[in-house]
Amino acid sequence: MRKTALLIFLLSIFIEGLPQSYTVDSVPNTKRINNSYVSNPDNLINATTVSQIDQRLTSLEQQTTAQVAVVLLHSIGENTAEDFAQSLFVKWGIGQATKDNGLLILFVADQKTIRFHTGFGLEGILPDAICKRIQIQKMVPSFKEGNVDAGMLAGIDEVIKILTNPASAEEIAEPVATSNYLDKPFLTPFFILCWIILGPFIFFARRKTGFSNSIQIPQNRPNSKVSKGQWWLFFFLLPILLAAYLVLNNQWILNLLGFYGYFALLGLHKYYRVITRANVWLKKGMYHTVYVFYTENSSWMGWAILFPIPFAFLVHPYKKRMQAVREHPRDCRQCGNKMKRLSEATEDEHLPKEHQFEENLLSVDYDVWICSSCNSVSVEQYVNEKTKYAVCPKCKTYAFYTESTTTLTHATTSSTGEEETIKVCKYCNNRERTTVTIPMVSTSSDSSSSSSDSGGSFGGGDSGGGGASSSW
Ligand SMILES: [Zn+2]
Ligand SMILES: [Zn+2]
Repeated sequence: MRKTALLIFLLSIFIEGLPQSYTVDSVPNTKRINNSYVSNPDNLINATTVSQIDQRLTSLEQQTTAQVAVVLLHSIGENTAEDFAQSLFVKWGIGQATKDNGLLILFVADQKTIRFHTGFGLEGILPDAICKRIQIQKMVPSFKEGNVDAGMLAGIDEVIKILTNPASAEEIAEPVATSNYLDKPFLTPFFILCWIILGPFIFFARRKTGFSNSIQIPQNRPNSKVSKGQWWLFFFLLPILLAAYLVLNNQWILNLLGFYGYFALLGLHKYYRVITRANVWLKKGMYHTVYVFYTENSSWMGWAILFPIPFAFLVHPYKKRMQAVREHPRDCRQCGNKMKRLSEATEDEHLPKEHQFEENLLSVDYDVWICSSCNSVSVEQYVNEKTKYAVCPKCKTYAFYTESTTTLTHATTSSTGEEETIKVCKYCNNRERTTVTIPMVSTSSDSSSSSSDSGGSFGGGDSGGGGASSSW
């Protein structure tokens, strides 16, 4: 009898002492039990560390409302840390329900794995790559030495630093030599193959919008479109060569240069086409046509922001070139002599009232050229690209603008709405009213009920499975 009792006693000590394998349901939710952020049932870190972590995470939640749960387990059986973390995250509802700003830090001793599992609301500030870097740089080295306490504290400190000051994320340097290409060596060749098959189809589809020498393109003025040969070079051959180069090359600086060079080349060639094709028409004396062409093709100047080299250096010469074309003396069509451009002050007597009106609205600028020998007059129209005025359907003056836009009936989830637009001509007072239908409001907003019992639970946040794990 005493033997059996002893045996049971010894057995119970043995079972007690044997590290348990946890399920999501058996992990003690210490937030509920004693309002602690740290669940450490196997005593993998000491009590001092637990209280240090609790202090820091309490102050973090007070500052940012973000909730971090720390769970250290000896074993989770055959489960992966990622699946286990996701289930535990959802079960506990870590983070505020309205913000989903929870983070679960799961340490699994027998798998030698550390897992960061982020709620939706933290994925932006703690992207997977940053989680991974914190683990590799701040935690795993200590874990390898068997110092779980130090690793946990260092990792949690780094997380707190980033959550309280997102800019500090940049201080964590990129881990050395992680290569996307070598991880997925088949991906780029796959894209190349797709492009070789798809390219010709895109070429034939593209024929409808036209190449520089297509019949659909008006040939009475210059255009800046690529020719068919140039299309094959820039959008078929070069991308394939660039992709092939990227597969073989794994230095990010060279890859960056490759992309930069490619797009800069596309922009430069466009610039080159604009200039050379305009020159053909300048030789014919079509200054007005060329000026309008320059204006229509000045969007490349926006490239100067992304590609300061070379485009920032081309903006000024381009503007000077435009000015020179606009001011270049015209030849008189009647007698062939040179014409003179009148100043803004003296040109008005040659302009009809509606044109003067447009000039006052700044919707159109007119240049009046007069021949000094035969007195014939030629008027050139330059529509201001930034004007809010459009052509009036009645009097054809650029004085037609949107006076008001009113919602007559609001769109709901079950019915469409109606919007009224009133356009008025400032010159002839022509008034036009149009109505458009506003589509129904779609119902896609999901609202999760928030439950915030004071102190005793996590806030009910959700996770989309974002995060990162590291093993050692
Ligand atoms: Zn003349
Ligand atoms: Zn009008």
